[in-house]
Amino acid sequence: MAFSERVARLKSSLIREILAAAQRPEVMSFAGGLPAEPMLPKVDWSDMPASMGQYGMSEGEPALREAIAVEANKLGVKCDASQVLIVCGSQQTLDLASKLFIDPGTEILVEAPTYLAALQSFQLFGADCITVPQEADGPELEALRERLQKHKPAFAYLIPTFQNPSAVRYSEAKRDAVAALLDEFNVTLIEDEPYRELVFDAGSATPIVSRLKRTSWIYTGTVSKTLLPGLRVGFLIASPDLFPHLLRLKQAADLHTNRIGQWQALQWLGTDKYRAHLAELRDFYRVRRDAMQVALEEHFGELATWEIPQGGLFFWLTLKDKLDTRTLLQPAMAQNVAFMPGEPFFVDPDANPGHLRLNFSHVPPEKLGEGLRRLAGVVREAQGS
Ligand code: PMP
Repeated sequence: MAFSERVARLKSSLIREILAAAQRPEVMSFAGGLPAEPMLPKVDWSDMPASMGQYGMSEGEPALREAIAVEANKLGVKCDASQVLIVCGSQQTLDLASKLFIDPGTEILVEAPTYLAALQSFQLFGADCITVPQEADGPELEALRERLQKHKPAFAYLIPTFQNPSAVRYSEAKRDAVAALLDEFNVTLIEDEPYRELVFDAGSATPIVSRLKRTSWIYTGTVSKTLLPGLRVGFLIASPDLFPHLLRLKQAADLHTNRIGQWQALQWLGTDKYRAHLAELRDFYRVRRDAMQVALEEHFGELATWEIPQGGLFFWLTLKDKLDTRTLLQPAMAQNVAFMPGEPFFVDPDANPGHLRLNFSHVPPEKLGEGLRRLAGVVREAQGS
């Protein structure tokens, strides 16, 4: 069968395979970025107008676009509703941006590590991914400058607030510095922020796009982590030069995002009910983060190092004795524990062994200790200690 050249670049997604295996009820899963089941809000469809079953506009529901623009302006992202496109989860933003910018061999810039499904999308279109190393407070600035001098990436893809997988949050100073560099080299920014609302301390600095002076940008978010991932509703906000192209790509992709999900999202966004839900969510996840920290100290204290995440859904462990963590998957699954190996989050997986991404929102605190005890045992076994 003759498939497109693109299909040859399509790698199987390790996380999809792990998540499928982790569906078994006896498995304790630290693998996915799933919201906790008890925190999924009950949805009420009873008032939904029948018209929501009809075809809609490619841009999205006007009232939802408006509500998103209002919230974005509160964050300092200067925009109006005409710059907002409702997409089928922020994953679709990555697909549309890939189609807009990437031909085979096009250079783009990503963090090392970065979100693996973003890499999957960019690489599907043949991107040549240039990487910039991540420090505890954001990218290494010297490396970033050097990459921008040497290459001309079509865009920089950054996740500055509780990055997936590293949980890093860029400092105020690094946000300013990154914005200044992207402006200086005139490189488009794609800023992906699914975790901004899941914050456990006083809050995060404003988005980098709000600091740009001249370069083009796309800011993307989602209701997947705060409401229901099954709604498949996200948004992008784009600088006016990019918006019409993204809109045409959206039309060609799927006509419009499902209106039923958009209507549901609109019942929440910007309301007091939503703000109360977010407060509850933060309290719930903070407790789970703390429980995970205690269990990690007990079982991984001698094996790994990590920073305590101030938001998001993940701990990112660095093993003291580096080994390819993909080799731990099978023995861990044999003990009914799922986790996410760190290697696939790097453009060059084989050169970056020794990290584990552990989700803290899904496994209830009373089961955590046992799951991490088993996982630590698997690591020790592999290290022969
Ligand atoms: N970007 C990042 C960094 C993510 O972690 C995720 C979800 N895991 C997405 C995008 C996709 O989210 P959505 O459900 O909105 O497609």
